[in-house]
Amino acid sequence: MSALCGGGTVWKLTSQATPVLRTKAAPLLEIVHKQADPLQQFPESFPLQVAVLWTNPGSDPENPLPLVHSLKEMGIPFFITRDLGQALRHHLVILYPSVDSHTFTPLQADQLTTFVRQGGFIFAQNVFWGGLQNLFGFRSFAPLRTRHHLAFSATKDAVTKYLNRAEERETQLGSDQFPEVIWSNGYVPDAGAEVLAHFDDGSAALLTNSVGKGKVYLLGLSLLDVVLRNQNNHDYEAQRHYVNAFEPGADVWLLVLRAWYEAYGRDWVRLATIPGGQRSALLLSHDVDWENSFAPGLDFARIEKANQAGSTFFVQTKYVDDANSKAFFFAPNLDILRQLKAGGSTVGSHSIIHSRGFNKFELGSGRETYPSYQPRGLGFDTASGATVFGEVRVSKELLDGEIPGQDTIFFRAGHLRVPVSLPEALERSGYQFDSSFTADDVLSNFPFALPRGLGFEEDSDIYEFPVTIEDEESPGFAKRVPQALQVILANAENGAVSVVLVHSNESVLKAAAEQDLLRQLPPDIVKTDMLTFASFWRARDRLQWSLTATSVPTEAVLQVKSEESVVGLTFEFQRPIASVTGGATMFPDNRHLVLPELAPGHGVSLHINYQH
Ligand SMILES: [Zn+2]
Repeated sequence: MSALCGGGTVWKLTSQATPVLRTKAAPLLEIVHKQADPLQQFPESFPLQVAVLWTNPGSDPENPLPLVHSLKEMGIPFFITRDLGQALRHHLVILYPSVDSHTFTPLQADQLTTFVRQGGFIFAQNVFWGGLQNLFGFRSFAPLRTRHHLAFSATKDAVTKYLNRAEERETQLGSDQFPEVIWSNGYVPDAGAEVLAHFDDGSAALLTNSVGKGKVYLLGLSLLDVVLRNQNNHDYEAQRHYVNAFEPGADVWLLVLRAWYEAYGRDWVRLATIPGGQRSALLLSHDVDWENSFAPGLDFARIEKANQAGSTFFVQTKYVDDANSKAFFFAPNLDILRQLKAGGSTVGSHSIIHSRGFNKFELGSGRETYPSYQPRGLGFDTASGATVFGEVRVSKELLDGEIPGQDTIFFRAGHLRVPVSLPEALERSGYQFDSSFTADDVLSNFPFALPRGLGFEEDSDIYEFPVTIEDEESPGFAKRVPQALQVILANAENGAVSVVLVHSNESVLKAAAEQDLLRQLPPDIVKTDMLTFASFWRARDRLQWSLTATSVPTEAVLQVKSEESVVGLTFEFQRPIASVTGGATMFPDNRHLVLPELAPGHGVSLHINYQH
């Protein structure tokens, strides 16, 4: 059937309709489960860490994954414990996921109160126990699934520091089309407590209460519902737009935690979201999903190079004719892909048949390969012979076989349709990154680890980079550049990123519009292809770091170890720095350090001298 040829496989044709294409085999990988115990996965290692007290250690405890996502995305150091004494040795404590009458003894309630009175800070969600209602400042609460909206109060509190825009001051918990949405606990506050956000029925959603030298915060929602449920798209259509708008409905809770850490952490240090000490990143991408979309790609690449930017081309490897289109994954289109790759653009997969029914496809066997895999679109959203594995794995084998030096690890689904088996199919086929959701739909503008099965229990090895701006919604990208810029600037304020998708079906209007956008970007927004930023984010997410004091009060040691090669890792410091060793670059504000390039498995130790 086949003959090896220069590392690739040349298939003899069995069907005249299928062109001869080179493939590079993608081995079928097994799922590797990470350390299942959060206590061992996130151990205590330095005093600055936020202590996460995991409060429901029953036989089937709710996984702290939603909080892990939130803290890691914000670069806040933390550890997870079930030991109250260990938690209270740290200055900042989070109680997760809830507190009921079985969580603490009366003696432990006293310990918590004493901790706060003496200057400790607690952030908790869903406290139901009367034994702690004085500490948290509530008289009663009412659980309901009928609250749909949340609004932050006009009061200024440190934790709402980053919530300056209308879209951040009010969020939606679920669409009004559903009578019941997520559970919320509306609190009736004590006279001394301050309400920082309320639900549509007037009850308190976020409370704060000052006790002695310390302060507590209480949220009447679960991060499982307002962060992870949005990210894995199991929300009750909580988004206010689908694409091309600023939708920070999940991000507000990440930003509240960030502001809480920065307000009350002592000499806090945070791992920044953007490389090189910059404020934000614009990630450019093109979908190549039509026979005439290849040649214009060269124009986009040229304009991007001229504007110190780059992009990722997501290519549909269409080698079959079907009801939707003729095949087009052959010469001279393949020559154009090779040119794009040689010119510095990066390439991802955009599936094979680009079906609207992709989210309903079977997972498949993982043995799908070219040319025996023969999927065909039959109509609007129906297909025959198609599987999720086939679409992701065979497209990778073809791109890797036909483009020298290509290793396809980025995927984007056709029509942004996402099956729940996508993380598994991607992981097992050797991918690392996906961009198949819209940022508005997942209510988040930060990249995140895609949970396995799009569930709530464990992360896959795939990171998601949702699409912020696309080009096709009326009146078209060329007429929406000012609006796109506003969304990008809103994300930049939060240290979030913006992903732009421009189809390369024409390069006259769209490439000019893209250039217009690039030229209007502030200089502290990085312009880059998706793969370069995604590789940075993966290394950042897996980074191990610690900050320890020395015997000299104005000194500290930052130790960093990366599993993979990474450029531009940046740490933000509360306390101004006078000098640093170890090859790090200090920014003029004396509060940002950019690390030297790290090699895989290598660490660096920076000695920091703070200003007096
Ligand atoms: Zn497409």
